[in-house]
Amino acid sequence: MSEIKLFIDDREVSVPEGSTILDAARIAGSYVPSLCHHPDLKPIGSCKLCIVSVEGMDQYPTACNTPAAEGMVVHTCTEELQEMRRNTLEMLLALTNHPTSCLFCERKDQCTDLRECMRKFPVTVGCKYCPNDGQCELQEVVQFVGLERIRYQTSFRGLPVLREPFFDRDYNLCIMCSRCVRMCDEVRGQSILFNNPNFHRNHWIGPESLQEADCKFCAACVDVCPTGALFVRSEKWIRPDSTVVTICPYCGVGCSLTLKIFENKILSVTPSREGVVNRGQACVKGHFGLEEIVHHPDRITTPLIKRNGQFEPASWDEALELVVQRLTQIKEKYGPDALGALSSSRCTNEENYLMQKLARAAFGTNNVDNCARVCHAPSVTGLAACFGSGAATNSFDQIEDADVLFIIGSNATEAHPVVSLKIIKAARKGAKIIVADPRKIELVDWASVWLDQKPGTSIALLNGMMNVILREGLEDREFMERRTIGFEELQKTVEEYPPERASQITGVAAEAIIEAARIYARADKAMIIYGLGMTEHTTGTANVMSLGNLAMLTGNVGRRSTGIMPLRGQNNVQGACDMGALPNVYVGYQPVTDPAIRSKFEEAWGAVLPTDPGQTSTEMMERNPGKEIRGLYILGEDPAHTEPDINRVRSTLQSLDFLVVQELFPTETTRYADVILPAASFAECDGTFTNGERRIQRVRKAIPALCGQENWQTICRISQMMGYPMSYSHPSEIMDEIASLAPMFAGVRFDRLDDGGLQWPIPSIDHPGTETMHADNFSCGLGRFNSVEHRPPAEGTDAEYPLILTTGRRREHYNSGSMTRRSKGIMWVWPEETVEISPADARELGIEDGEMVSVRSRRGEVKTRARVTDKSSRGVVFMSFHYQDVLTNLLTNAALDPQAKTPEYKACAVRVEKIKG
Ligand code: SF4
Repeated sequence: MSEIKLFIDDREVSVPEGSTILDAARIAGSYVPSLCHHPDLKPIGSCKLCIVSVEGMDQYPTACNTPAAEGMVVHTCTEELQEMRRNTLEMLLALTNHPTSCLFCERKDQCTDLRECMRKFPVTVGCKYCPNDGQCELQEVVQFVGLERIRYQTSFRGLPVLREPFFDRDYNLCIMCSRCVRMCDEVRGQSILFNNPNFHRNHWIGPESLQEADCKFCAACVDVCPTGALFVRSEKWIRPDSTVVTICPYCGVGCSLTLKIFENKILSVTPSREGVVNRGQACVKGHFGLEEIVHHPDRITTPLIKRNGQFEPASWDEALELVVQRLTQIKEKYGPDALGALSSSRCTNEENYLMQKLARAAFGTNNVDNCARVCHAPSVTGLAACFGSGAATNSFDQIEDADVLFIIGSNATEAHPVVSLKIIKAARKGAKIIVADPRKIELVDWASVWLDQKPGTSIALLNGMMNVILREGLEDREFMERRTIGFEELQKTVEEYPPERASQITGVAAEAIIEAARIYARADKAMIIYGLGMTEHTTGTANVMSLGNLAMLTGNVGRRSTGIMPLRGQNNVQGACDMGALPNVYVGYQPVTDPAIRSKFEEAWGAVLPTDPGQTSTEMMERNPGKEIRGLYILGEDPAHTEPDINRVRSTLQSLDFLVVQELFPTETTRYADVILPAASFAECDGTFTNGERRIQRVRKAIPALCGQENWQTICRISQMMGYPMSYSHPSEIMDEIASLAPMFAGVRFDRLDDGGLQWPIPSIDHPGTETMHADNFSCGLGRFNSVEHRPPAEGTDAEYPLILTTGRRREHYNSGSMTRRSKGIMWVWPEETVEISPADARELGIEDGEMVSVRSRRGEVKTRARVTDKSSRGVVFMSFHYQDVLTNLLTNAALDPQAKTPEYKACAVRVEKIKG
């Protein structure tokens, strides 16, 4: 982009073409007041406070929406401008009846030094005791323009302060700048505040709360409020004594969050504007689902040993001695493969690296896995089979510039809210959206085509689309010939899937399949975004390979805003796999079966390592005869809640000789433990997380570990006590070791990650990271087409179980809910589980919205409330698995994808019945 030069207050500045005068003034270091403007919003120039004087112009343009021009000479702070601003501000305060003295402040009864306040702000805004004091942009502007009194009659409106979950609305302090309303619409794509006429009136009269208005409580409106009108309750009246920027511990988007700390407690959390992934945005979980949880009284802060069926507190020494003694006994009696370790997608890379090192070097087994097994393992196997690397090909930022986004099996607005903002932004910029999903998810509202497929029919759908592409000559022959192999086989397969046949299998109209194929194939830049709706099937790996086929067939890989983006569920599911917390590979996906690689690790670790791949987590839960796991160490996972067919998992956990679980809170799984070790939360640890776009980001310790030690220290102590020394003084040393052993991380050092992190591969210390993979070559050289056939879900419906249950997430909750269910605010917003059922099915079954029903599968039964909604298609019901009192996974099917061993959470047969009486 070319630059232009202009003068701001006698300083010459260079700015990119398209910048406004306000942008240029900020670069020049000149403060220009602006109350309606916010950098993330379209400039509207309505408050008129950003007027400037431009030589040669006979009016005073508003700086926020006037383009900077070559050679312009701008003055931002003449006496004339300040006089006009004072008049404007005076009028604004009068018109909005903004409080002008401390007499109207909320804490006037506690006010101890009114004189000091009045001296500081004589007869002006009187914000000394406003909750926003010191951060109030209005206060700043008043001081800047030198407004000292208001000549007009104003009266305190005395409006009630409205309590919402998490924040207060005090319209006595509102100056009608409309930032909140525009943020909700322009950035969040919600228009909740536009559609709720009572939200922003001078006189709030509605009965309607934001919750009733379907607010998502992302609080983006609160974050841009320039006064104290919208204010987070937990930080009202208290000022933090420090702030720490770290990464959200919930989903795989990896938003940067600023933790505000007061006396070693998290006071509140705000999304960081410097965060390269989220740029000041977050969802309700990241914004409000942390401070209460980290300090929740249920936190396990002391080791617990089960004696006579009861857990009793113990010292760290006592608990670790027992753990080491029992694991060593099992190893000596049954061999190292009787031990297993479940590492955690919630923990840092460094903790995951140490867990797999502990399993391999100290336990002597490759029986180590993480919960990617039950979500995105098919992405690793499927994408690696196509491209040679099992990770996202591009960056989240590139979503915004795509021409077409094909979203399949991903309810991004609920599961990855901040990524969904980028999808909505792309749609607003003109990108066409194709949604393939059995449910009418929110993104359908933005879609050109909705492919409302039956669960478990993605291969037929994709083969049908590829059939159309080939029939109409829309494939990219040049790309295929130059960069791929295996096309002929694929061609033969997809010939068998004309749209009419694909329609029969999927339930999607043939015309819609044809239209989607044309839209995708004709785009210059088409990107595929998918989620667990693709992977959590018995055909998970084949589903992912089918996406690889579609992308390569049309040349949509290896360029910006193309490629395939698997949206990762948990914060560090990518990293847990990268670190080798998998039974078949060491860190950096180096196979344990390769003798040269194994001897590299043996030399580096000073240990003899096992030669055969270990068991996956799903296999460990099977009690395979002759391969039984007898001693298990689970770090930060809750398989008794999250694995399918829970009764099976319960019986395995019960039958173990010894189970040690390290956790933040009591969970379904800790009930079966012999020893519970306390875990340190994300806010108590240093380290790194890797998000869904391969970005390694710094996690920073904000408060001391409540349990007295960080997780990496606990793992090191266990290892040392088992006779295998592990010694580090800081997690950065663990990362140095990772970099020395895995070529793809060779250039990673903690001090290189401070500025937004780096996307792997990072093969050398001066490498800038890789935004777009497979640009010139695929990781495996030539891309490989893998032809795949439709296979129905493992379990079909019948007269007894006539409905298909599909499971997923709700925006407010996370995984087993052990964290989010402990937030009062989040439980206020989404307090209980429901089964979502279509109006037609509900009518047929005589079920009313809100009634209690039983949901029964061939494995178990739960009772919950029905939510009758047209989000559910006929024949399909939906539940999440966030609640301990409604264990949805009692119902789900443990049938596995043969390659990735991932269970089929997304389709099992159920019966729904009204509970009589
Ligand atoms: Fe961002 Fe995901 Fe955390 Fe929400 S849960 S704030 S989208 S990382």
